[in-house]
Amino acid sequence: MTQGTVLIAGAGHAGFQLAASLRQHGFSGRVCLINDETHLPYQRPPLSKAYLKGEGRPDSLMFRPDKFYRDQTIELIGDRAVSIDRAARRLLLASGSSLEYGHLVLATGARNRLLDLPNANLPDVRYLRTFDESETLRQRLASSRHVVVIGAGFIGLEFAATARGKGIEVDVIELGARVMARAVTAEISDYFQQRHTAAGIRIHLGVQATSIESDGSNVTGVSLSDGRHVEADLVVVGVGVLPNVELAAAAGLPVAAGIIVDEQLLTSDPNISAIGDCALYASPRFGGSLRLESVQNATDHARCVAARLTGNAKTYDGQPWFWSDQGDDKLQIAGLTTGYDRVVVRGDPAQRSFSAFCYKADQLVGIESVNRASDHVFGRRILGMNSSIAPEQAQDLSFDLKAALA
Ligand SMILES: Cc1cc2nc3c(=O)[nH]c(=O)nc-3n(C[C@H](O)[C@H](O)[C@H](O)COP(=O)(O)OP(=O)(O)OC[C@H]3O[C@@H](n4cnc5c(N)ncnc54)[C@H](O)[C@@H]3O)c2cc1C
Repeated sequence: MTQGTVLIAGAGHAGFQLAASLRQHGFSGRVCLINDETHLPYQRPPLSKAYLKGEGRPDSLMFRPDKFYRDQTIELIGDRAVSIDRAARRLLLASGSSLEYGHLVLATGARNRLLDLPNANLPDVRYLRTFDESETLRQRLASSRHVVVIGAGFIGLEFAATARGKGIEVDVIELGARVMARAVTAEISDYFQQRHTAAGIRIHLGVQATSIESDGSNVTGVSLSDGRHVEADLVVVGVGVLPNVELAAAAGLPVAAGIIVDEQLLTSDPNISAIGDCALYASPRFGGSLRLESVQNATDHARCVAARLTGNAKTYDGQPWFWSDQGDDKLQIAGLTTGYDRVVVRGDPAQRSFSAFCYKADQLVGIESVNRASDHVFGRRILGMNSSIAPEQAQDLSFDLKAALA
């Protein structure tokens, strides 16, 4: 059991879960959660989904009300961690105060990658990561007539579908050859491209935004690398994120495409861990280093570190899963759908119900499901058991997946 204070820098999905799990595991020392946002810790997924559509009040996004932190004696400190004095085991805060720690956990997440284009700093050019950004966009959707979305990743497409659902003209600009290309199989990209197009969204692939046009103060459109110009009164940028590694790097901790941690999520300093979107962790399961951006990854990391800090150290061995809601379609991903050499389809895209089963050397590595929750649940269970089914079984609808789990 760790002695002394556990300090958590960052109160997003990972930081919040760690504080809560420490108490669940019976940790009785001081727990401080450093929150640099002006709201109680909240969930991010609804920011581009239900909340953006206008469903729910801000309270519905918060993990827990104020009272929870008081009852659990979790000190929620509104401040920002600015540097780490590793020798003295002190965390310095932007307010000028500092806190001593027995163990420090970096849960600093990631920030939006910014667009480096002329006029990209105009108020009509927006991003979507925080509650405040979602709130602004929710209001802008009420008056906007034509949106250009730069980037056809999950967040860009979720936003595009919501905007289109409100009757707004939507153009999506994507440099890649297909939507969500870095994250999903071609089968899933093709399906979503076709669905968004059928809903009236214009998707421009293989082109780049080269400049944002304005009348001096308001955005009027976006110029593309193929010479075309698309009208817009609002531009939403979803071109990925950068992990917040600077605090760790300045303290001399190794960083690469994330804060480097071992298979127990510990940095090279035995008194400092890193979890969630900011952590590049060694994965024995996948045989390399991984940095994932998902709620599952953030919360499972947190639970693993809470267990270690309360005397039950173990290797982090979480099975990745993810979801994205776009229009009326729900995409769910179990496992890691990268590095596969064969994809077989179960179900029928035309019926809006199918899954792409991804195989590497005949071993199932992941399943991407569209409106087929039972395939997703099967995927999480079979992958969790380190088991598989044959590709021929996967594509045979008469093959009983439940029975395969028995
Ligand atoms: C719009 C949106 C939709 C998403 N939808 C999904 C989805 O459908 N499914 C899914 O699985 N995932 C989704 N994600 C991803 C998921 O939300 C993230 O993977 C998750 O939030 C990561 O949690 P985290 O705690 O590591 O980081 P974050 O949630 O980013 O939290 C990090 C916190 O640390 C703070 N911070 C940074 N530096 C400091 C510092 N120096 N001092 C103090 N605080 C600091 C940040 O301000 C932030 O509050 C979505 C993300 C977004 C933005």
